[in-house]
Amino acid sequence: MSQFKTLTTVEVRTLRKHYSTHCFGNTAYLTEVQDYIQSMAQQALTEYVSRRSGGGITNTTLWQDFYTYVSPTNPKVTGVAIREHIRAILEKEQHYQCCYCRRPLLNDAHAKPIEHVLPHSIFVQHTFDILNLSIACVDCNRRKTDNIWTLKAGKFMRTRHYPAASAFTDMYHPRIHRYDDHVTFFRVQSNTHCISIYTGLTAQGKNLCKNLLTHISKLELFVSANSELKHHMAMINEQDFRPGSDAEIAIKAFKRAFQDATDIILEHV
Ligand SMILES: [Zn+2]
Repeated sequence: MSQFKTLTTVEVRTLRKHYSTHCFGNTAYLTEVQDYIQSMAQQALTEYVSRRSGGGITNTTLWQDFYTYVSPTNPKVTGVAIREHIRAILEKEQHYQCCYCRRPLLNDAHAKPIEHVLPHSIFVQHTFDILNLSIACVDCNRRKTDNIWTLKAGKFMRTRHYPAASAFTDMYHPRIHRYDDHVTFFRVQSNTHCISIYTGLTAQGKNLCKNLLTHISKLELFVSANSELKHHMAMINEQDFRPGSDAEIAIKAFKRAFQDATDIILEHV
């Protein structure tokens, strides 16, 4: 059995404290930003409690709402600016690579979405937990959507607190696990093709390969071998639409359709 380390409770606490004191670049507004994030986290918790007590789903836009903030004292302190700062911190920590496939992140905000490891649509209580945020490439983010591929999904949903690091026994967690302990890969690129081969080393890594990376590898080979398709997909991915706008909804629908179509094709590859 492979041996690997996970974060201890103390390390998780230290990490959260670190992010709290670095959640915004302009330290003059740090307290205001901390209070804002805390107030959004409280709303997420209220929504979770309501759902758990049978109140049904009443708020599904908390993450989008986060971006609409504008400071009453400085118009430059906004939800968008906070998001960009958080993205920059995480991106740097990940050495500008996708948290799942490890391909380089393109230098374009829309091409490096903030990924909720436990999807916020299901685990609303963790929407603003920094430990639940990571940066994925568009392909991984799109493929993963609301999937977490863990046998513990039901157990995770029943708790208001973030699951302990030791609970992720069948799911790779990019903020808790060390990638090299769980997955190994090699990549070969030519003028016209790009081939990545991933191998899982642990239960978590094997599940990640089976559920996500094998598909990403096939998709990359498929797209890289078709220069026209590659060009147009890159153009689409470069667009940065306002969350919730008609354009963003239309592009999401197109991407879903593209994913469904490629899923059918890649099943036979
Ligand atoms: Zn990726």
